[in-house]
Amino acid sequence: MARPWNFAPGPSALPETVLQQAAAEMLDWHASGMSVMEMSHRGKEFMQIRNEAEADLRALLGVTEEYAVLFMQGGATAENAIVPMNLLGRVAVPKADFVLTGIWSVKSHQECLRYGDAQIAASAGLAATINSRLQQPYTWVPPSTSWHVRPDAAYLHLCSNETIGGVETMDWPDTAALGAPGVPLVVDASSHFLSRPMPIEKTGMLFAGAQKNAGPAGVTVVIVRRDLLGHALPVCPSAFDYSRVAAEHSMFNTPPTYAIYIAGLVFKWLRQLGGLATMEQLNIAKANALYGFFDQSDFYQLPVERSARSRMNVPFFLTDPARNADFLQGAEARGLMQLKGHKSVGGMRASIYNAMPLAGVMALIDYLKDFERSHG
Ligand SMILES: *Cc1c(COP(=O)(O)O)cnc(C)c1O
Repeated sequence: MARPWNFAPGPSALPETVLQQAAAEMLDWHASGMSVMEMSHRGKEFMQIRNEAEADLRALLGVTEEYAVLFMQGGATAENAIVPMNLLGRVAVPKADFVLTGIWSVKSHQECLRYGDAQIAASAGLAATINSRLQQPYTWVPPSTSWHVRPDAAYLHLCSNETIGGVETMDWPDTAALGAPGVPLVVDASSHFLSRPMPIEKTGMLFAGAQKNAGPAGVTVVIVRRDLLGHALPVCPSAFDYSRVAAEHSMFNTPPTYAIYIAGLVFKWLRQLGGLATMEQLNIAKANALYGFFDQSDFYQLPVERSARSRMNVPFFLTDPARNADFLQGAEARGLMQLKGHKSVGGMRASIYNAMPLAGVMALIDYLKDFERSHG
């Protein structure tokens, strides 16, 4: 049975070979007589799964022992609170700065306001910077030279790929170059995690909900520099205190075992493929094919500035929105699923994460051409 092409923003497509392996191991993992779901999280079988997942992730991203790797719960949304609860206590007056490039970084900023002084270092959402043609805010990344970072801030927050707006920040600055040496950069990389090599060494910490590009919903990967640990605010729940979670190797309480197992299979799939540099080349080829098609068409419009185009999430509009329903219906009839844009942006969005092969993107382009031909 051919599976349809799934362009969902998350939870999203997983590599088919990973799903097949999980299916084959469902009732009996490696002759243990148990499904991974039935194992004790402290038993030797699951310890092996967890340890391999961490080792494979470290190898993929080149994460040194200077950083702890944590498998947590609550998703990236919970991290919006967990991060300030862990990091604001590092400085005398709790404050943090935020780069606003879209809906997710705005949410992070809002949540931090509950715990301290959260200021905007830069924003792409001001009226003056709204894309005038399409009336869309958050369609670009303010250059890092214009970011105002307080040198005594506990951290600087950046969402490196805005899933809803389709805005990706390719270059992560060194905070020393922004006049704020020692201020750790905190990156929400949820929706392009493992899509390319990532300069972890430029960050104080990085987090990613797995369900966009690394596995199923339920596990959040946190990579945090160890010198930032140990300053959790008293209100921070123990289960969300990075230093306690790190000390217990993510076993402070029961971790999301099955989600960690599937993410571990995805990590192995990426390593077998050749690692993140290879994955990046595949993602560039997919993004170039899709954006290249849009660039030569007057029938479709792209809201995002060229320099900030996400390789993972591609929002686009039909010139005539009255045809949106027709477009989506025709797409589904061809097995091209979940192309409807986020309600806050409208139009369409194609999410082309790691697990989407070039063939799926080409099938989408064929449909885009045919729809344009019959409606243009
Ligand atoms: C999806 C997403 C979130 C929220 O993830 P949840 O798992 O729903 O909490 C946060 N940030 C980014 C960049 C996302 O893509």
